Amino acid sequence: MITKQQLVVVGNGMAGARFVEDVLARGGRDRFSITMFGEEPYGNYNRILLSSVMAGSHDPKDIFLNSLGWYEENGVKLHAGVRVGWIDRLSKKVYAPGGVTAAYDKLVIATGSSAFVPPMGGLYDQSGEFKPGVFAFRTLDDCDRMIKYAGKARRAAVIGGGLLGLEAARGLLNRGLEVHVVHLMSYLMEAQLDALAGGMLHRLLEKMGVRILLEKFTTAVLGDDAVTGLAFKDGSKLDCDMVVISAGIRANVDLAKQSGLTVERGIVVHDDLSCRNDTNVYAIGECAQHRGQVYGLVAPIWEQARVLADVLTGGNKRALYTGSRVSTKLKVMGIELAVMGDKDPKREDDEVVTYVEPSRGVYKKLIVREGRLAGAILLGDGLAAPRLLQVFDREDPMLDDRSELLFPMSGEAKTPSVAEIPDTAQICNCNGVSKGKIVAAVKAGCRTVKAVCDATRAGTGCGSCKPQVQAVVAFACDGAVEEDPAAHYYVPGVALTKPALIKAVREQDLRSVSAVFKGLAGGREDLGSKVGLASLLKTVWGKEYEDERDARFINDRVHANIQKDGTFSVIPRIYGGVTSPEQLRRIADVAEKYNARMVKITGGQRIDLLGIPKEKLPDVWNDLGMPSGHAYTKAFRTCKTCVGTDFCRYGVGDSTGLGIKIEKRFQGIESPHKMKLATAGCPRNCSEATTKDIGAVAIEGGKWEVYIGGAAGSRVRKGDVLCIVDSQDDVLKCMGRFMQYYRENGKYLERTYDFVERTGIDALRRLLVDDADGICARLDADIQAAVDAYDDPWTESRKPVHPNQFAGTVAVAGR
Ligand SMILES: Cc1cc2nc3c(=O)[nH]c(=O)nc-3n(C[C@H](O)[C@H](O)[C@H](O)COP(=O)(O)OP(=O)(O)OC[C@H]3O[C@@H](n4cnc5c(N)ncnc54)[C@H](O)[C@@H]3O)c2cc1C
Ligand code: SF4
Repeated sequence: MITKQQLVVVGNGMAGARFVEDVLARGGRDRFSITMFGEEPYGNYNRILLSSVMAGSHDPKDIFLNSLGWYEENGVKLHAGVRVGWIDRLSKKVYAPGGVTAAYDKLVIATGSSAFVPPMGGLYDQSGEFKPGVFAFRTLDDCDRMIKYAGKARRAAVIGGGLLGLEAARGLLNRGLEVHVVHLMSYLMEAQLDALAGGMLHRLLEKMGVRILLEKFTTAVLGDDAVTGLAFKDGSKLDCDMVVISAGIRANVDLAKQSGLTVERGIVVHDDLSCRNDTNVYAIGECAQHRGQVYGLVAPIWEQARVLADVLTGGNKRALYTGSRVSTKLKVMGIELAVMGDKDPKREDDEVVTYVEPSRGVYKKLIVREGRLAGAILLGDGLAAPRLLQVFDREDPMLDDRSELLFPMSGEAKTPSVAEIPDTAQICNCNGVSKGKIVAAVKAGCRTVKAVCDATRAGTGCGSCKPQVQAVVAFACDGAVEEDPAAHYYVPGVALTKPALIKAVREQDLRSVSAVFKGLAGGREDLGSKVGLASLLKTVWGKEYEDERDARFINDRVHANIQKDGTFSVIPRIYGGVTSPEQLRRIADVAEKYNARMVKITGGQRIDLLGIPKEKLPDVWNDLGMPSGHAYTKAFRTCKTCVGTDFCRYGVGDSTGLGIKIEKRFQGIESPHKMKLATAGCPRNCSEATTKDIGAVAIEGGKWEVYIGGAAGSRVRKGDVLCIVDSQDDVLKCMGRFMQYYRENGKYLERTYDFVERTGIDALRRLLVDDADGICARLDADIQAAVDAYDDPWTESRKPVHPNQFAGTVAVAGR
C-alpha cells in the first residue's frame, strides 16, 4: 500500500484553495492527505468580487467558490476559522490555538496579505479593536460590517485613492452615502496612472459624486466612542461618521518570519516556489516574493498555484514559475479603465503614443519598447482593451501603425471577429484561458457557457471576460449554444424547474423538505435549497405541509424580524392601516412594558416595536392580542391604503375598505418573495399603488385598475396594468389569481417585478384574464385553499413547537 504524504496548506484564500483544486485535478488525492487551515470561518470565496458585494451588484452568497461541503466531498480536512500560530520546521509540524496541530511532509504557505493601516491617532478603542466606524476592506466580514454600518452612516471617508479605495468609494456611494476619498499623493492611482490620467479619472469620479481630497496626510481619526471625523497634518479636518482604510496591503509573513524562513517584502521563493532556505516549504500568492516581485493580483497567483500543483504531484516536475506580466481593470461602474505594464517610459528609446480627449474623459497611452508593448493606460474606451491586453500578454510585435491598436473601430484594424481571433489569444486573463482552450472544451462536449467555464475556469476571476467567453462558446458551438438547465432549477439541490417540481411533489405526495430530498435528489440534502423548498411546500400543501424547523431562517422560526443587535422587531397586523384608540393604547402599553427601544411607523403604514428580546416575544404577542403582521417572512406583507371616498374629496373608490378586505383575505399567504400591496381611491395615487407588487387604483365609473410588478426600492418600476375590473370582488379575484400563479411559477426570492418582466405582461394577461390555458378556475380554487389554511403563527406563543423555540440566546445562521 502506498503511504500518502501529508500536505498541509496554511491559508484558504484564492491562492491556497486554487492550489488544492489543482492538486486534486492532477490526482493528488491518491498521493496526499490534504489538511488546510483558514483563518476565515468559511469556504473559499472570490475576494475580487467583494467590490461588487460592496456596490450591491453581488450577493455575498454568490461569490463563494468552494463551499464547506466541497472540502468534505474532496477528502480535504479543512480547519475553518483556525489561524496557524507557529511552524516547527524541525519536527515538521504546524500549531494552532486550542491544541490543533498537523504534521507535514510538504507545507504550502498561502497566507495572503492584510490591509496596511498607516499610523495615526484615534484608530482603536480601549480593547485594541478598530473604533466603531473604522474599517479595513479585505475580507467578507469587513465587507459585511461596512455594509451594516453604512446603513446608518451619512458621510464616509475612504483613506487611499488606489484601485481598492476607489472601488470601496463607489460601493459606499451606491449605498447613498456622501463619500470623500482622502489621498496622500498629488493624484489618484499613482501606482498605475500618470498624472494626466489620474487627473481625468479624478474628474470622472467627481462627476459621479465622489469628493476627492489630494495631498492629505491623515493624522488622526476623531471621535470618542465612534468616528466623527478625520484630522489632517495641514490642520484641516473632515467631518465623517465612517472611515474605510484602503492604503495598500502588506504580505502576511509573520508566521514565516517566526519559523526562520527568508522574508523580505514577502516570503522569498525559487522558481519552483519552494522557500529559499527550506525545500519542503513553499509559498504562493500575495505572501510570496518571487524574483523580487510580490504580486497583488489573481492572475499571477493562480499561475503560481498551477505550477506548484504540477511540481508537487509530479504532473510536471520541472514546471517553473518565471514571473508574470500584470494588467488590471478598475471595477467602478461607469468608468472604463484598464492598465497594464509600465505607466511611464523607463528607457530613453521607449516610444510613447498618447491620445487625449478631455471633454469625453478619454485617455490612451502606449509605451512601446523594442517594438513591443511595455505598458498601456486606457481610460474611457473599453473597446480597445481586449486587443491591447492580448498584444501585451503575448508580447506580440506591435503594428507599425500604432493608431490601429488605439482605435480598433477605425481604418483597417476593426475589432476582429471571433473567427479571426487566433487560438492562442488569451480570453480570460485571470485564469490564462485562451480561445483554443474554450473551443477545445466545446469540442469535448461542453455545450453550455457554464459547462465551458466549469471545465476551463474561464470567467471565474474578475468576470470581465464573460461576454467574450460567451462569444467564443457561441462561435465554437456554431450558434447552437445550449442553455444551462441548472439556470432554470427552482433550487440548486433538486434538478427540476418549479412547475416540474410542484408536479413531482404532488404526484409523489412529498410533504416535507427531507422527503423532497429523499424522493427527488437521491437523498442528498442541500442546505442552500432548504428554505426555498419549505416555501414551495407550504404553497402546495398549506396546512398539510410537514414543517421541519431546520428548513427555516431564524425569522421564520420565531415569527419576528431579527435586528443587527440580536433583538427582534414586532409588527402586529393593522388591517388596511386603519387602527383605533383602543388598539393604539394597547400597543403603547406593550411598548412600555417590554421597553421597546423604538416605536416606528413603517413605510407600509404599520407600527413596529423594535428591540424586543427573543424570550419576550410570546408575552408581547399575548399582551398585544393582535395577529401577526408577517413583516419577517416571504409572504403578503401589507396593503397600504389612502383615505379614499370616505374622507377625500377626490376619491372615486373606497380604497380603505378594499385595502382592509385585501389584507383580511391574503394575510399570511406565502410567496417566492415578499409582496407589498396598496390601494388608491383615485389616479392621484397617494398610496403609490402603481409601484407596489400588486396595486389597485380606483377610476371613474366605479372601476378599478389592477397593477402588477411595480417597485419602489433599490429599483423603481411602474407596474403593468393586468386588467380593469368593475368591482372590489373582481379586484380580489384577480389579485388572488395573480398571486397563486406567482406562487407557483416565481423563482424563490424573485420579486414580482422581475417575475412580470420575465413572463411578460401580455402572456400574463392571456393566462390570467383571457384564461387561454384554462387554468383560472384551478388558480382561484388553490388560492382559496391557501386562504382557508391561514393560521396566525403568533398562536405559537401559547404552544411553542419546540421547547427552545424562544430560548434566550440567538445563534444567527452563518454562511
Ligand atoms: C476588495 C478587493 C478587490 C480586488 N480586486 C481584484 C481584481 O479586480 N483583480 C485581481 O486580480 N485581484 C483583485 N484583488 C486581489 C486578490 O483578491 C488577491 O490578489 C488574492 O485574493 C490573493 O490571494 P491569496 O490567497 O494570496 O490571499 P487571500 O485571498 O487574502 O487569502 C489568504 C487567506 O489566508 C488566511 N490566513 C492568513 N494567515 C493565516 C494563518 N496564520 N492561518 C490560517 N489562515 C491564514 C487569510 O485569512 C485569508 O483567508 C482584490 C482584493 C480585494 C480585497
Ligand atoms: S389617491 Fe385620490 S382618493 Fe386617495 S387620498 Fe389621494 S387624492 Fe384622495
